[in-house]
Amino acid sequence: MPPTFTRIATYTTPHEAEIVRGMLREHGIEAILQDDVTVQMNWLYSNVVGGVKLLVPTSDLADARELLNLTDEPTDQDASPETTQCPNCHGTQVASLRPPLLFGIFMLLFLLPFGYRRDRYRCETCGTTW
Ligand SMILES: [Zn+2]
Repeated sequence: MPPTFTRIATYTTPHEAEIVRGMLREHGIEAILQDDVTVQMNWLYSNVVGGVKLLVPTSDLADARELLNLTDEPTDQDASPETTQCPNCHGTQVASLRPPLLFGIFMLLFLLPFGYRRDRYRCETCGTTW
């Protein structure tokens, strides 16, 4: 019976995922990557496919979690609004200002080399945006 695999982590680039996979393999865990070739072809596809997935045999899941210092909850690498502080009043009531979907599509179609944007936030307490 072939082993079943469980996703343990997701990375933006294949390089990050490959480093972690190499570490797991040194400890005898035969981890595999999913969507790494797709992201290598065009790094913008990383967001489309949900990143490069690191999969480990389900039988090695507990050991792999321990090696990677993961809790039982899947971790999200994005900074959540709760952990973001206002630079003006240091308040934690912060809302993320995401551009509309059409803006993202426009950037993908016409401005591929300039597609990078940084996240913007607005403080609910003092109204500062950054
Ligand atoms: Zn503020």
